[in-house]
Amino acid sequence: MTIIDKSKPVLVTGANGYVASWLVKRLLDEGITVHAAVRDPDNEIKIGHLRALGENSAGRLKIFKTDLLMGGSYKAAMEGCELVYHTASPYTLVVENPQKDLVEPAVQGTENVLNTATDVPSVKRVVVTSSCAAIYTDAIDTTKAPEGRITEKVWNTTASLDYQPYSYSKTMAEKRAWEMAEAQNQWDLVVINPSGVFGPPLNPKTNSESINLLKMLGGGAMKMGAPKIGIGAVDVRDVAEAHYLAGYTPTAHGRYITSAHNTNFLELGTVLQPKYGDQFPLPKKALPKWLLMIVGPFVNKLFTRKYVRNNVDEEWKADNSKIRKELGINFRPLKETMEDSFQVLIDEGVLRKK
Ligand code: NAP
Repeated sequence: MTIIDKSKPVLVTGANGYVASWLVKRLLDEGITVHAAVRDPDNEIKIGHLRALGENSAGRLKIFKTDLLMGGSYKAAMEGCELVYHTASPYTLVVENPQKDLVEPAVQGTENVLNTATDVPSVKRVVVTSSCAAIYTDAIDTTKAPEGRITEKVWNTTASLDYQPYSYSKTMAEKRAWEMAEAQNQWDLVVINPSGVFGPPLNPKTNSESINLLKMLGGGAMKMGAPKIGIGAVDVRDVAEAHYLAGYTPTAHGRYITSAHNTNFLELGTVLQPKYGDQFPLPKKALPKWLLMIVGPFVNKLFTRKYVRNNVDEEWKADNSKIRKELGINFRPLKETMEDSFQVLIDEGVLRKK
């Protein structure tokens, strides 16, 4: 049981990110003081939306300059906090050097933030944003899991530096977080494992991979069809709520799969058809697996034959009952999530009608 005092400040690392921005808003709306840790406080494109949130809400926002790879850089931001949200981690699918660009910032960054938590006596709980990527690599792994779907008991054993290094970085970072939590008894650890996050960005200029995917859908990259890749999906606002509840529910414990829908890539496009199909070149049908096996590797570096074999036309299955039961969360419908995000990108001129 860990009771967090809402009158104390809360630290959010990577506060300007796509997911964390909604968490910051949720906390500020509750009247809580948020210590927002970012690496580039003077970059208005990255941070402007956070400052605006701070000016228009009940809580107070304080911005701190930090870096995952700079030891001790989170200390000032953590002073006086009982609750720490660690969301910062590189989320990018194409990298030059997976060890340096993904694994080091994810793992060393987790060590840096959690070591500081142990150094700052006020900290009682740390909530880490991991991912379903720490549970599975390919869609086929989900149906091969012991219960025919992934649960919180399952760990990713198939990602590596050479294959899906982002998933590998999330797996290594979450494992390290659990080791560090077990080595001390000052704070408890709660982990949020979201699947693919979609929904409206608070900063439409975000470079999050979630938004890049929407830009591809709306920009016509899949007008001939989309691969039916099994994935999980969840609304960014529900992911923020999950973090909020994980922080302030005294009995919250362990990992929480935070995924609303067992779906596939094609459905993300077809669910937008009724409202936007006339104005945008959205996909209507599935690209055949045999075709993707042949052309995939030439079209996209990520579409290796192994990836196509293990993901296209494979179902994605997760059990989200733990978070629904223990934190009482209700997830939004997929249609609402996809329409709301698409609309923001249209309104902001990021997506243009054909
Ligand atoms: P995002 O918008 O790219 O946010 C990532 C955040 O991490 C940014 O604030 C970024 O700062 C920060 N960061 C990266 N490298 C850093 C470094 N070396 N030092 C300090 N900060 C650094 O991505 P997101 O989608 O919101 O992801 C947030 C978290 O959710 C990540 O842990 C991600 O793995 C996890 N997650 C995301 C999804 C999804 O579908 N989006 C699904 C599951 C889990 P800059 O802005 O300065 O780069």
